[in-house]
Amino acid sequence: MSRESLSERVLALRAQREAAHRRRRIRMVTRRDGVRCVVDGRELLNFCSNDYLCLSQHPHMIAAMRDAADEGAGSTGSHLVCGHGAQHSALEAELADWLQAPRALLFGSGYMANLAVVQALLGAGDVCVQDKLNHASLIDAARLAGCTLKRYPHNDADAAERQLAAHPDGAALLASDGVFSMDGDVAPLRALAAIARDRQATLYIDDAHAVGVLGNVGRGSIDAAGLDADDVPLRLVTFGKALGSAGAAVVGDADLIAHLAEAARPYLYTTALPPAQAAATRAAVRIAQAGDDLRECLRINIERLKTGAQARGLALLASDTPIQPLLVGRDADALAMSEALEAQGYWVAAIRPPTVPEGSARLRITLSAAHDARQVDGLLDALSRACDAVTA
Ligand code: PMP
Repeated sequence: MSRESLSERVLALRAQREAAHRRRRIRMVTRRDGVRCVVDGRELLNFCSNDYLCLSQHPHMIAAMRDAADEGAGSTGSHLVCGHGAQHSALEAELADWLQAPRALLFGSGYMANLAVVQALLGAGDVCVQDKLNHASLIDAARLAGCTLKRYPHNDADAAERQLAAHPDGAALLASDGVFSMDGDVAPLRALAAIARDRQATLYIDDAHAVGVLGNVGRGSIDAAGLDADDVPLRLVTFGKALGSAGAAVVGDADLIAHLAEAARPYLYTTALPPAQAAATRAAVRIAQAGDDLRECLRINIERLKTGAQARGLALLASDTPIQPLLVGRDADALAMSEALEAQGYWVAAIRPPTVPEGSARLRITLSAAHDARQVDGLLDALSRACDAVTA
């Protein structure tokens, strides 16, 4: 036996990825102006961001960030040591108030927050029952926690119940995305809440793609389903999507959250968000809460894209959210379509395995409140041409 060289291994893996059309490239965005951006030197219309309300560009957010920059560029430590300040506290209180839940706790990112929740709550002998299409961070979280991970077929609440019933011992967390990031559809939240109640499991909803977008005053998928913090003891809110900044919070039951603050390793051992980032997110919460007009623009764009796609014979996946994927199938075809769109001035990412299941590569089209009708129609025409080019 001789030691394998890591350099040779990664070269081989990269060559495999290239051959399988799974190469990933970091694109350089040098200018953003609403949904227009300059990517690798070329002006494109952005139809792949998660900036659903276009808040990343909002003058109030930028002003809030600028003002709070006087408090320092960084937080100087973890929350429990010396990093927690007035901006963090206020943001937590305002999030809890908006989402009508007892308490919120800030995290550096949604990825870390998901790791934190599962690692702090579950261990060997416990079970984490999850939708198969949950975000990668939730799957990774269960693996890291050392609990039993069970994944049920997408949105199959009966299967979730059977998995919980098969693991009656230890604690149980039932975890689902509220809106699925690569499909755009919504979880059967009322059924999941009833199952969690019956099976004494704690329901955890990753609402990264729904807060700011769905529900009364943008409270997310839980509110849209007619549920509240009693039904869903813990939920994830991310700041990098509709809220236009970066970071995340876990929102819900005060005792569970107090435990996270004392025991979740991705909370304890990392630097708190810069105060200016918390300040910008506070501005985002205010705008999103009062943002029915933005949500109406988004709704009109979603409707226009869906109707136009149907008229052109483009089979979008069934979704009423800003995530409107066009299933392509083969990786090479999805990549070719994305490139054909880019050549026409539209930026739509090709999403390939392992982000989505094998054979289900897709164009993940995302809409923003800032797109206008002409841009949506232009994308539809460009999509038709790209489809024709690839299937010719
Ligand atoms: N959950 C879901 C459903 C997501 O789509 C994402 C981001 N892709 C995350 C969690 C992670 O959030 P963040 O980007 O803040 O790490």
